[in-house]
Amino acid sequence: MRTYEKSRAKLAEAKQVLAGGVASTLRGSMKPTPLYVESASGVMVKDVDGNEYIDYQLAYGPLILGHAHPGFNEKVSRAMAKGITYGLQHDGEIELARRLTEVLPCADKVVLSGSGTEAVMLALRLARAYTGKQKVVRFHGHYHGWSDSIFTSFPSPDMMQKATSAAADSVPPGTKGQSEHSLEDVILLPWNEPETLERTLREHAGHIAAVISEPVMCNSGCILPLPGYLEKIRELTRELNIVFIMDEVITGFRLSPGGAHGRFGIMPDLVTVGKALGGGIAVSAVGGRKELFALIDSEQVSHLGTLNGNGVATSSALAVLELLTENNAAVYDKMESNTIKLVIGIRELFSKHGLRGVVNQIGPVFHFMFIDEDEVTHFDTFQKRNSARYAKFAELMLEEGVLVRPNGLWYVSTVHETAHIEQTLQAIDRVFVRLTEGG
Ligand code: PMP
Repeated sequence: MRTYEKSRAKLAEAKQVLAGGVASTLRGSMKPTPLYVESASGVMVKDVDGNEYIDYQLAYGPLILGHAHPGFNEKVSRAMAKGITYGLQHDGEIELARRLTEVLPCADKVVLSGSGTEAVMLALRLARAYTGKQKVVRFHGHYHGWSDSIFTSFPSPDMMQKATSAAADSVPPGTKGQSEHSLEDVILLPWNEPETLERTLREHAGHIAAVISEPVMCNSGCILPLPGYLEKIRELTRELNIVFIMDEVITGFRLSPGGAHGRFGIMPDLVTVGKALGGGIAVSAVGGRKELFALIDSEQVSHLGTLNGNGVATSSALAVLELLTENNAAVYDKMESNTIKLVIGIRELFSKHGLRGVVNQIGPVFHFMFIDEDEVTHFDTFQKRNSARYAKFAELMLEEGVLVRPNGLWYVSTVHETAHIEQTLQAIDRVFVRLTEGG
C-alpha cells in the first residue's frame, strides 16, 4: 500500500507561504493529494514518498520527449553556458524562427513568446489590428489560456457547466477578479455545429475580427472536428474577412511536426504553439501569414516581453524540433502506434469488465471517459461523462504506479515503450476490478 504522507506534509507547508499551495490552480485538484516530486527521468516520476509512476500527464503536455531527455539536456546546457538571456539579439532566435517557418506550413513568419496564454493574446491583438474589428468567436469547452480577454472558465466539468448555461451573448467571466467587461467582445458558440457558426458569422461579420479554435478539442474530450468543419471555418472566415486562429498549444508538434493544420492540410491565418515546443521550458510562438506580421514590422502592433527569445527558450525549442524531426516518421509512428495499442487495450478492458466508456484519440493524445454513450462528438455529450468515477480511477491508478491527469486527458511521449503500455494495461485491468467492486 502506497502512502503520500510526505506529499501531504509538504502541501501543508506550502500553503503557509504559497497561495493555494500549488503553482497553477488546476494542480490542486489531484487526489488523494497533490504530489511533490523528488525526481523524474524518461517516463518515470518519483515522488517524495518514494512512489514511482509511469507518467501520462507529462506536465500537462510539454514533455513530448519525456523527463530529463539526455540529448535535450545536453543541448540546452551547452546553450546556457554561453549566457542565459541577453535582452539583445542572437543567432538562436533567427535559427528557431527559420525552423518554425519550415515545419509549420501556415507560417511565413513567427513571433516568439513565453507561454500559450501570451501567444493567444498576441494572436488576438494581431487579428483586431488587421481587420479593424473587435469581436472574437470562441467555443464551449476550448481553452485558450487565462488572460482576461479570453478566459471563460477552467475546463473542469462544474466550472464549464456554468459557462454553458449562459446565453452566447453574455459570456460570464471565468474567475472572480476578472474585469467584468473583458468578455464583452467574446461570442461563445458550440463547436462542431457548422450551421450555428455560419449563421453567427454572417450576421455579425462586420464586427468579428477572429475565430479562435483548437483544431481538435483536446481540452474537453479530445473531440475531433466533424468532417468538413474546419474547412467550413476556413471558407467562411476567408470570405468574411475574419482571421482564423488555430490554437495548437496542445496539438502543435504532437499530431505531426506541422501540428494539426499540417496533418489536416487546413491553413489558418495564425497558429499559436507552446507546450511541446519547449520540451518543458517556457517558450511559445505565433506563426502565420506575413500580411498580419507586417503590423509588427511597421511597429503598429506592439509585442513585448523581457524574456522573449532567451537562449534557454530558443535552444530548448531547437532541441525539441531536432529530436522530433531528425527521424521524423519513426518518432511519430512510435508514439502513435503505442497510443493506439493503449487505446485498443482500454476499449477491450471496458468490455471485459462491463464498463461503459469512450476513448477519443488522435496521434499521441487521447481522452478516456466513463460515459453511457457510444461516441462523444460534441461538448454537450462530453459533459455527461462520469467525472467522479474517472477521478476515482485516476486515484487508484496512482496506487498502481501510473500517473494520469484527473480530468481524463492522456499524453504519450517518444520514450514510452511497449513494455510501459503493457504494464499500464495490466494496472487498468486491476483498477477496473476495484472500480466495479466499489460500484
Ligand atoms: N491554448 C491551449 C489549447 C491550451 O491547452 C493551453 C494550456 N493548457 C493554453 C492555450 C495556455 O497555455 P499556457 O498554459 O502555456 O499559458
